[in-house]
Amino acid sequence: MIELKLNSPLQFVKGVGPKKSQVLAEHGFNNVKDILFYFPRHYLDRSSVTPIGELKIDGSATIIGRVKAHGILYGKKRRYEVILEDDSGAINLVWFHGINYWSKLFKKNQLFAATGYVKSYMGLQIVHPDLERLEDETDRMIHAGRIIPVYPQTSDFNKVGLNSKSMRRITTIIFENLKETLTDHLPAEICKSHDFFDLHTAIAQIHYPNQRDNIEKSRRRLAFDELLNFQFLVFSNKDRKNKIVKKHIYNDNTDKLDKFIGRLPFQLTNGQNNVWKEIKFDLMSNRPMYRLLQGDVGCGKTVVAILASLFVASNNLQTAFMAPTEILAEQHYRNWCNSLSDLNISSALLTSSLKQNEKSVIAERCADGKIDVLFGTHALIYDYVSFNKLGLVIIDEQHRFGVKQRGKLYNKGDNPDLLVMTATPIPRTLALTLYGDLDISTIDTLPIGRKPIKTVWRSNDVKPKIYDFIIDDVKKDGQTYIVYPLIEKSDQLELENVEDAYKELSKGKLKNLKIGMVHGKVKNTERDKIINQFFNQELDVLLATTVIEVGMDNPNATIMVIEHAERFGLAQLHQLRGRIGRGSKQATLIAVAYAPLSEISQKRLEYFVSTTDGFKIAEADLELRGPGELYGLRQSGIPAFKAVRISQDLDLLENSRNLLEKLFNQDINLDSNYKDLYKYLNSNLEHGKVINAGA
Ligand code: ADP
Ligand code: MG
Repeated sequence: MIELKLNSPLQFVKGVGPKKSQVLAEHGFNNVKDILFYFPRHYLDRSSVTPIGELKIDGSATIIGRVKAHGILYGKKRRYEVILEDDSGAINLVWFHGINYWSKLFKKNQLFAATGYVKSYMGLQIVHPDLERLEDETDRMIHAGRIIPVYPQTSDFNKVGLNSKSMRRITTIIFENLKETLTDHLPAEICKSHDFFDLHTAIAQIHYPNQRDNIEKSRRRLAFDELLNFQFLVFSNKDRKNKIVKKHIYNDNTDKLDKFIGRLPFQLTNGQNNVWKEIKFDLMSNRPMYRLLQGDVGCGKTVVAILASLFVASNNLQTAFMAPTEILAEQHYRNWCNSLSDLNISSALLTSSLKQNEKSVIAERCADGKIDVLFGTHALIYDYVSFNKLGLVIIDEQHRFGVKQRGKLYNKGDNPDLLVMTATPIPRTLALTLYGDLDISTIDTLPIGRKPIKTVWRSNDVKPKIYDFIIDDVKKDGQTYIVYPLIEKSDQLELENVEDAYKELSKGKLKNLKIGMVHGKVKNTERDKIINQFFNQELDVLLATTVIEVGMDNPNATIMVIEHAERFGLAQLHQLRGRIGRGSKQATLIAVAYAPLSEISQKRLEYFVSTTDGFKIAEADLELRGPGELYGLRQSGIPAFKAVRISQDLDLLENSRNLLEKLFNQDINLDSNYKDLYKYLNSNLEHGKVINAGA
């Protein structure tokens, strides 16, 4: 028998060999330990194999048997059937799809394990079972008779035969021959107080759980480790930033600021004034600012950011103001360039759709320090853009940018101040984790005079009435957005799409209105034209996909209809809703839902219409989503956690942060277990084993 150690190369594991080990290495699996951290995607419960003769109708079961016969049957529906037989009886396995595939798969007498729901239809039947071929009796042991792991598949793995079954063979051999246990760096008392498995047990049980409950128990333990590693990075970043002294200094030069504020067509809200104070305090400090400005859609974050850029410009330093879409960048520029230039502050807009020579002119002026505030999209991060004296970096809708992109812009200055903004409010625990290295300011008031958006959800059969409502509103000079989940017809999804709707509505129900359409496949120039027409009220109705989700600021828009609202997450619905109700007119949102509605979709819609408070929505989103992705987190530099499920692990987030606070607080005399943990986490960081995050 082979003796395996944690650092044994995979090539020496039975069944791997040079070809497979090469592909594994290409995917970052070099030794035994790496494979142990490759977690199953899900599990099949084959802990009890039922003899076919003892199967109960209307229940799930796993059976093992040999193929007696197989072939295509032509009835009301064409189907592929296999008769599987064991000593006690026989059952039909049926497939209605992928007939070509199945017809090549089976040979008489082959041994298979099948899991699925048993029904009675001309004898016993399982439709579309989970199926796996067992080659011999050893296979029967590894792949059946217990809860078995199913591993994530990639096409590279499949090409060299590393399917789930062969991964299972490899993990089984590893566990049978492993002569070492994984060292646990978590102090035993922490394991105890959280009811965690030790590391080795957690790893063993996540692959081959003795019972179902052990899967979740192992996952939580491994999630805690991931959170510790991730937050260690955040804590270290903060530590490092705290030591930086910035080179530029600002004078509290209020002349232009006062003029600017005096000329605004509105009074700043208390929320805006408060966060501006916080930001100004940071700017005046001798450490660079790292601040996240959050606030619900429409609370008026932009003007606060403009105040900051004005302050910086009054001190002869430059500001880079980056937004995620051209629409948004342009809108910021258009809204503010005149009031800035009235105060002798020059600004410009840089996006990729400018002509090459236009870009060069702007880049040159910026490098010479002739532009005070440069608005733009991702175009700002390209190498040809440089600044003479970059004092402040502003990133709007920061969760739309990757860490690298944000970093690249930031590094165009010498430790400039940083202000990132987001309208995706997240619960406090999560904010502290994800943005632990940023200070957080929150605008908690909406401008006075905003009427709450009336929100309802309706079933799609009342759509004719909704169109009448839109037509009436247009007579009162209102404007409408209608949002669709798809650009064009899809074979997979039976959903309304914006292109067909545009054709139908412009000839049908809305033929007397001026309607336009934008989506991701409309060319930039054309899209800008349409959006401008909508802003200038040359269009009554704008049909769109979610491209309009961020930032669009047309205060005259009064109605939004969201088609297939049941398909959208709560936070996204809320974000979309933020496009209306920006002026003084009453705004209405109609969420249109299509049957069949799952219980969770219905709950989501009920909650959505019950509140317009973005923070409440964010909390509920986290709860209702279950294990899924939290909206907007994926792009925000949050690593692809393997074990963490944010929504279920908020307590672990908090506890891991508390533990790190202890570790980073040098005043406390920690016993050696904790010191070792610190060293271990630090070495992971230094070896680049932690995925980068934060701003
Ligand atoms: P968000 O926080 O979602 O980015 P914006 O900055 O786009 O919001 O502001 C939304 C709208 O509210 C804009 O039209 C802006 O001019 C307006 N606004 C901002 N502050 C105020 C205020 N204090 N009073 C009235 N309107 C305001
Ligand atoms: Mg905004």
